[in-house]
Amino acid sequence: MFHSIAIDGPAGAGKSTIAKKAAAALGFIYVDTGAMYRAMALYCLRKKISPDREEQIGDACARIDITIAYEDGVQQIILDGENVTALIRTEEVGNMASAIAVLPAVRTKLVELQRSLAQKADVIMDGRDIGTYVLPNANLKIYLTASAKERANRRYLELTEKGRICDRDEIEKDIIERDNRDMNREFAPLRQAEDAVMIDSSDMTIEQVVGAILDEYGRIA
Ligand code: C5P
Repeated sequence: MFHSIAIDGPAGAGKSTIAKKAAAALGFIYVDTGAMYRAMALYCLRKKISPDREEQIGDACARIDITIAYEDGVQQIILDGENVTALIRTEEVGNMASAIAVLPAVRTKLVELQRSLAQKADVIMDGRDIGTYVLPNANLKIYLTASAKERANRRYLELTEKGRICDRDEIEKDIIERDNRDMNREFAPLRQAEDAVMIDSSDMTIEQVVGAILDEYGRIA
């Protein structure tokens, strides 16, 4: 039996940075499920399919192929044979991902891929519904959060470091909107699993959060 750690939480809480480091420390594979929703979103943006075209998106789900591969230990996301990893990190793709993530057809397709990965290796998987829906029997569940202001600030710094011009308030507004959509959708919404450990990273460093997760895992492994 392989071990799994589920990390859920709202946008910008630091899930991927922390999950990557914890995975490296434990020798687990890191699975970024948001990237899968983003790849699906990129497909819709390219084909100009609007998120309210549920039937068209359902057809697309049946047709397209989303897989992951690892290059030097880094997850690559492959959409119909094309490596789209470098194309999915924009706010436009993120917003589209959250809009189509409400659709059961999209979730069903991607959850199948996520569960099959957890059957083949020890994984740390991050997302919104990992502890509550995808891997309800995960060995450890973490709900990682931070205030909306702090999360917006982190994203702002990340974007400006890359030379992008952006507005901090606009980013905070987007984050709050995305949280609302993720928490209030009908199918597998974002919420803390009953047996998840809550970590508020607002006033913690990355190392402190990783340390807290490794301590929790050490207690149960
Ligand atoms: O985590 P990331 O920002 O890359 O995720 C993009 C969007 O994909 C999220 O806002 C959320 O709506 C959706 N998502 C999801 N379930 C997951 C992972 C991501 O609904 N497990």
